[in-house]
Amino acid sequence: MRIDLHTHSCESDGTQSPAEVVAAAAVTGLDVVALTDHDTTSGWRQAAAAADRLGLRLVRGMEVSCSAGGISVHLLSYLHDPASPALLAETERARQSRELRARRMVDRLGADVALTWEQVQRHVVEGATIGRPHIADALVAQGVVADREEAFEHFLSAHGPYHVRHYAPDPVAAVRLVVAAGGVPVMAHPLARLRGRVVGDDVIEAMVDAGLAGLEVEHRDITPPDREHLRALARRLGLFTTGSSDYHGSGKPNVLGENMTAPDVLDEILARGNRVAVNGG
Ligand code: AMP
Ligand code: FE
Ligand code: FE
Ligand code: ZN
Repeated sequence: MRIDLHTHSCESDGTQSPAEVVAAAAVTGLDVVALTDHDTTSGWRQAAAAADRLGLRLVRGMEVSCSAGGISVHLLSYLHDPASPALLAETERARQSRELRARRMVDRLGADVALTWEQVQRHVVEGATIGRPHIADALVAQGVVADREEAFEHFLSAHGPYHVRHYAPDPVAAVRLVVAAGGVPVMAHPLARLRGRVVGDDVIEAMVDAGLAGLEVEHRDITPPDREHLRALARRLGLFTTGSSDYHGSGKPNVLGENMTAPDVLDEILARGNRVAVNGG
């Protein structure tokens, strides 16, 4: 069983449609793929139809943007009820704040480089969750940088002069909302220091007290020593661990299936999650 539990489509900052992500998963030889767009479930229907057609199992997921006192935390939610009002209210608030924040960042960038809001919008699918990668795509199209990596390095870094923060819920509160929505909460890429500041074990322990079920340990942004630390932490706290690609189409070098999750862990997620939200079974 080849299982990849973290991918993005153009409903957030991936470059392929949900159906294309599932088709790419089939070509790669995956048996199970989760679609986990940032703060939205709008790709689920299309991805599920593609999964049924191609004989894959889709795990419906979402990556909830969180902020612990200004430190970005990403929380994967699997199999939650997408209509659960409290969780939906938080992700919608984050999505609206992301829009305003993107406009502010483009205003700041526009003072120094040739970039307009219209140019950025060309790279955002209607209704998608907007993020810095869309600004990066516009900078690439303008010939300012070669790729998203370079855009982040020179213009979009959280430490740079153009960065603006957006609203995101506290991760402990977000775990409670996912659980209340019937979902299975898994912390995405903990200790991914390459991305910026990371939260300490104290925050992870508070998330566990709120119902956190697992840690995404096998992920390219986490170093081998940090993975070792996280495995020990997971054993101590009674959490399962997952491995995933965090595929973003051509927007990132991450390839589908580069890290995978064990079948018994998938079984646990399916057993704990809202049964209604699983296709094909
Ligand atoms: P945002 O959600 O707007 O804060 O942007 C964060 C997103 O940008 C992450 O979900 C990644 O998909 C993407 N990202 C972060 N760092 C990089 C990078 N160095 N190169 C390409 N994409 C990145
Ligand atoms: Fe992303
Ligand atoms: Fe993430
Ligand atoms: Zn992700």
